[in-house]
Amino acid sequence: MENLNEAIAAPRLRLFDAIPEYLPDIPVDNLDSILPGPSLIHIKGKVAPPLFISVLLHGNETTSFLAMQHLIRELNLASRPAPREIVLFIGNIPAAAKGVRMLEKEPDYNRIWDGGSLPEHRLAQEVLQHVSRLKPFAAVDIHNNSGKNPHYACINRTDESFLNLARRFSKTIVYFTEPHEVISMALSSQCPSVTLECGLTGEAGGLSHVCNYLVQCLTLPVEELFSPPTNKHNDIYHTIAKITVPDGSHLGFGRCEENTDICFREDMEELNFTEVPSGTTLGVSGKNGLCLKVTDNSDKEITKDYFRLDSNEIVTRKPLIPSMFTKNETIIHQDCFGYIMEHYPIEK
Ligand SMILES: [Zn+2]
Repeated sequence: MENLNEAIAAPRLRLFDAIPEYLPDIPVDNLDSILPGPSLIHIKGKVAPPLFISVLLHGNETTSFLAMQHLIRELNLASRPAPREIVLFIGNIPAAAKGVRMLEKEPDYNRIWDGGSLPEHRLAQEVLQHVSRLKPFAAVDIHNNSGKNPHYACINRTDESFLNLARRFSKTIVYFTEPHEVISMALSSQCPSVTLECGLTGEAGGLSHVCNYLVQCLTLPVEELFSPPTNKHNDIYHTIAKITVPDGSHLGFGRCEENTDICFREDMEELNFTEVPSGTTLGVSGKNGLCLKVTDNSDKEITKDYFRLDSNEIVTRKPLIPSMFTKNETIIHQDCFGYIMEHYPIEK
């Protein structure tokens, strides 16, 4: 019986060679009524090779899907060919129906792209096989942040084509190699690939920013997309470490309840992409004496390089540039509290 349940729960990739009926207008939390699971949709276009776009790898990050709906309606793609072929992957639809990043007891859909034995890993491999057959010229994976951050583009390689594709979205660029199980990393061996982080879910500015970017990717000549923009000034950061909290710890921000394990300062999210000096207090540890944990890109713990407990205060030991700090306790436990970055000068 258990096996049967597992078979029913395993995600199965659905393939479409046209835009499914109702897709352009359906509310995202109702998407599962027309697409019950992960779907790969090939949208015809006037020019090949296609642009690969992935949306909703995290179910609560809806700007990606809304941008695609907007594009389909604006360009009338249900009845007309797109300016360029599109391969659209819609990821965690059941999680989107519930408005969560991922369902309980399933892996994060943006951490399944480097092999593994779960049904979701097999799904990812199947998507990658289709993508390698379709040979996209570029890949764009679209996300929201759960904390306040500027809009930025991430790359996993610093080749000029990757950088220029990222520059077209934002002057803020993050180069990272961990976590390596993300879709953009898997695709970077096939074509230039970027991850767009377009602010908080539901913000109109993020939606229009992504729509404009996708229109450029669909209409500009490839050589132009991959060549440097006129203003080459960028802030390029490299992610060097990840910050997590102890499993099951109870967190708070600002005024905290008595049983809080770590009570962070209210304005944590304001620190994202700023230079936080050494000696800065980030929070106060509760009676269990718990602290943040920092691991570098090879998973080595380096907490002591960055933080010390001074009385009960968690204090930075050296200057650091954080990103993705969020006050969403569920996301912090599902993913992480944030990352530490350093400037990454590139003369290209
Ligand atoms: Zn995401």
